[in-house]
Amino acid sequence: MTTHLADPDHNPSFTRGIFLGELREDLVFPFPELPPAQREDLDAILDAFRTWASATVDTARLDRDGRFGDDVRAGMAELGMMGLNIPEEYGGFGASALLFSRVFGEVGTTDAALAVYFGAHQSIGCKGITLFGTDEQKRRWLTQCATGERVAAFCLTEPGSGSDAQAMRTTAVPAADGTHYVLNGEKIWISNAGYAGVFTVFAKVPVEVDGKPKQRVTAFIVDARAPGVKLGKIEEKMGIKASDTRSVSFENVRVPVEDRLGEVGGGFRIALEILNSGRLGLAAGSSRGARRILDLALSYAKERKQFGRPIGSFEMIQRKFAVAAAECYAADAGWMICAAMVDRGGVDFSLETAACKVFASELAFRASCDAQQVAGGLGYSKEYPYEQAVRDSRIMLIFEGTNEILRALIALSGLQQPGEQLKELGRAFRDPLRSLGAIGSYIGGRVKRQLAKPEFSRVHAALKDEAESVAQAVHDLALAVEKLLVVHGKDVIERQFHQERLANSAIDIYLSTAALSRATWAIAKAGSPELAVADIDNARIFVSMAMRRTRRALRALERNQDARLKSLAERALETGSLTVETPTDA
Ligand SMILES: Cc1cc2nc3c(=O)[nH]c(=O)nc-3n(C[C@H](O)[C@H](O)[C@H](O)COP(=O)(O)OP(=O)(O)OC[C@H]3O[C@@H](n4cnc5c(N)ncnc54)[C@H](O)[C@@H]3O)c2cc1C
Repeated sequence: MTTHLADPDHNPSFTRGIFLGELREDLVFPFPELPPAQREDLDAILDAFRTWASATVDTARLDRDGRFGDDVRAGMAELGMMGLNIPEEYGGFGASALLFSRVFGEVGTTDAALAVYFGAHQSIGCKGITLFGTDEQKRRWLTQCATGERVAAFCLTEPGSGSDAQAMRTTAVPAADGTHYVLNGEKIWISNAGYAGVFTVFAKVPVEVDGKPKQRVTAFIVDARAPGVKLGKIEEKMGIKASDTRSVSFENVRVPVEDRLGEVGGGFRIALEILNSGRLGLAAGSSRGARRILDLALSYAKERKQFGRPIGSFEMIQRKFAVAAAECYAADAGWMICAAMVDRGGVDFSLETAACKVFASELAFRASCDAQQVAGGLGYSKEYPYEQAVRDSRIMLIFEGTNEILRALIALSGLQQPGEQLKELGRAFRDPLRSLGAIGSYIGGRVKRQLAKPEFSRVHAALKDEAESVAQAVHDLALAVEKLLVVHGKDVIERQFHQERLANSAIDIYLSTAALSRATWAIAKAGSPELAVADIDNARIFVSMAMRRTRRALRALERNQDARLKSLAERALETGSLTVETPTDA
């Protein structure tokens, strides 16, 4: 198993485990630390980046201009940022996922559009070449990407296929002489398109299977300078304005066969793998971005006086900071543990990166809105950074998998194993005499799960109650999953009200565990709980909020208003209006 790949078929997964009532502590403890040499590297990179950024990156100006100046792009390349996680043998720095994500967080703190530029290049643009390219492809393309000579972009979305990426219509037809493919189609919303020197493009290749014509999604490395590659106009967006977003069309573009990435038909898996790791950077950028805007609001809350006292002394304002502090604590812990899983290899981290992206993106948007509220009228003015933060952070909930799609992914992937067990059981009951073994072991396992609630053994005793409530939630989740599968069977695929509840519970359980792991580490580092009070408070507040949400979500699997909600939505969709007529309507 190569590192940087999530492999659900072979590798253990913390989040899949909780759907079975299992707590794989070994995957989330101990809390990860950078080894000393990497720590030094990180300090040096952050120092150089901060010094450069404070002199060069004016986020309000980027927002106004809607474009990076040449100094910004050249500076990123000179600092070595464009090759940070490209392997050393291809001219990059070869950063670990943990180091890369931490730097990503710093870029996110500096400017969201710059973070998208950085991420679209390395997290998704050339990541496919790093993960799946041949040595020759890596030498040809990655070396140029590492220096920033060629900026990379990722071309998956099309006018008719966004979330449903498999419905793409772009085609790559092999030429009769076997030397190249002919690429035709249009991709939209492509970040970095206008700066790009190379694209990772997904297209359907016609093949014959059992004598029948089929189309197979395949990945290609496409030279942005090739004849037939055309860029659309720059999209006018709500935020991340300096990020260059455009459509890219391919008209009979000749793509040499040696630029096919992976096997014919392997493209969809490649796209998913790229996005699995790409989401980690987005999570780090979002949670660090949330901290930056809250820090600004904090200073304002200390200075601004109303009713004769600083507004920060009012509890309604304090509550916003306290909740956000605990959420940032857990969000950071979540992506750090997840990055360590990526570095360790042999762990399936696909659901954790999705969980981190969903939580951190919503946190960043909420935090920006809260910071804006703390700033009052100033928060609405373009002279201050709050409104830009609200606009910039909004995109994080939409790209690299919308949060709805990622919630469905978490829930349906989590349901897979329990569903298979139940299917086995269904089969066994059809022929019970011959299947006594299967029934016996299933019932044995189930009884064991019902009797033996999982327990944490590695959480510090100071957080015993919190550990107990998370373990209880894991147990309750597994029992709820089993009931749900018995009631709905495979129709659960259509039950998105439930999927959302399961996904939210899984996200909260993963992040609570991450917060407990982090606080346990902090207590050990400090020497005693009394010396790690801030960590303990953050973990306690987060776990208590998250577990309250989880209990409510699991209860709602049985007692809910789903049927009524559905008929309200369907009525509105049918009539085209959300409201019923009121007596004052003319
Ligand atoms: C600024 C920006 C930059 C981008 N950069 C890139 C890039 O570099 N490369 C690239 O390939 N793409 C990029 N995208 C595209 C982005 O990934 C897509 O917009 C996103 O995947 C959603 O696709 P869509 O816009 O077609 O929305 P749709 O898929 O049409 O979705 C519309 C809504 O329906 C919901 N929905 C859809 N299906 C379901 C379902 N089964 N269950 C529940 N809800 C559902 C969605 O969650 C969403 O809320 C970018 C987009 C933007 C706005």
